Amino acid sequence: MQLFDKLIEHPEAVRLVLENTHRLPAKDVPFAEARGLALAEDLKARFDSPPFDNSAVDGYAVRSIDASEAGRTFRVVDEAPAGRPARRSVGEGEAIKIFTGGVIPEGADAVVMVENTSGWGEEFELKKAASPGQNVRGSGEDVREGDVILKEGTEVGPPEIALAATQGYGRLPVYRRPEVVVLSTGTELVEPGERELEPGEIYDSNSFAVMAQAEEVGARARRITAASDDAEVLRNAVKEALETADVVVTSGGVSVGEKDLVKGTMLELGVEQVFWGVKFKPGKPLFFGMRDGASVFGLPGNPVSAMVCFELFVRPALVRMMGREEKGRPRVQVYFEEDVRNAFGRMHAMRVSLEKTEKGWLARSVGAQGSGLVSSLTKADALALIGPESEGVKAGEPVEAIVLREEVYSSQLSAISRQHS
Ligand code: AMP
Ligand code: MG
Repeated sequence: MQLFDKLIEHPEAVRLVLENTHRLPAKDVPFAEARGLALAEDLKARFDSPPFDNSAVDGYAVRSIDASEAGRTFRVVDEAPAGRPARRSVGEGEAIKIFTGGVIPEGADAVVMVENTSGWGEEFELKKAASPGQNVRGSGEDVREGDVILKEGTEVGPPEIALAATQGYGRLPVYRRPEVVVLSTGTELVEPGERELEPGEIYDSNSFAVMAQAEEVGARARRITAASDDAEVLRNAVKEALETADVVVTSGGVSVGEKDLVKGTMLELGVEQVFWGVKFKPGKPLFFGMRDGASVFGLPGNPVSAMVCFELFVRPALVRMMGREEKGRPRVQVYFEEDVRNAFGRMHAMRVSLEKTEKGWLARSVGAQGSGLVSSLTKADALALIGPESEGVKAGEPVEAIVLREEVYSSQLSAISRQHS
């Protein structure tokens, strides 16, 4: 019979996962694929931007010296729409019709808005004096050649895409999305939506839940169906997964039962065990190993354990691979109104709801904490970390919690800005 070698503490397990996790290599991707990813290099301005002095308005480019007083009449000698510079320069008493973005013609140093003239025509009368530089957008006033315009690690969002595009970048170097392959084990599992259950069967929920969790972080996830406790089926599935994946995540079959073949299969396939068994609830049998740079997580089969272990161990790894450490879940200090017992002798990640009160964040257990109670997860705003060794916590005592539903937390912070958006 196989037994856990030695259970390790939760922080030690997280440390070991992170120690074995590195940023994925950079990849150049088109803008459409870059959003939400982190830049893998500093981006520099290739030239001054805007690249030329241009007009901020529709009107006439003039010499400001000629336009220092209202009342003067100007002759219009050419035009400079955006994209087509004028062929002439501006001499004394002359003007060139210009539109927003048009190149300021030689000789001119100001633009008068058409609203401040007698209007469009071959001649116009100036209605309002102009000063040097008026309505001229200077070259380089946005960014200067050689400036670092975006730093490594920056999340690519719409403004970053805009700025990179102004500099002619067509693709961006980013830390690519991790490829995650998810597979469920268990002969009892049936594909949801496929058919009715026979006695003893249940639907596979873990692989879908875990894929969704991986995709939520920004990874690309796919499933391999291996819903069996047959060693050969399992071996083939894990082998296939290891061919392409940065991260393989299995669920079920990783404890000490006779049908628990995941760990043995992993070792057979050359996965080096980093740990197996964590002093943690829910999810004691968690397995973690590495093969050729790929991480392998064997999550327990109980749905709550699988999802909570993903949160605490797999998610931080994916975030690190993507260079997105700042995207880790927020942690807050919470308190309970009553004493809370922890009879498990290991850290309990308790599913709680959160409420903001004058005293801080009030946590309440969502109810029974069984590892099979999938509905309890839909009610949880956070995981309160009770332990590791403690017998529990006293009413009012501070406890650290990992916020799962950031909207609950951020609604307290940004209620005003949201109202105005
Ligand atoms: P195991 O870790 O394989 O011993 O499974 C523990 C419990 O989780 C059992 O009740 C399984 O039926 C259940 N379980 C395992 N895999 C899944 C899954 N993919 N979806 C839903 N429940 C599962
Ligand atoms: Mg099983």
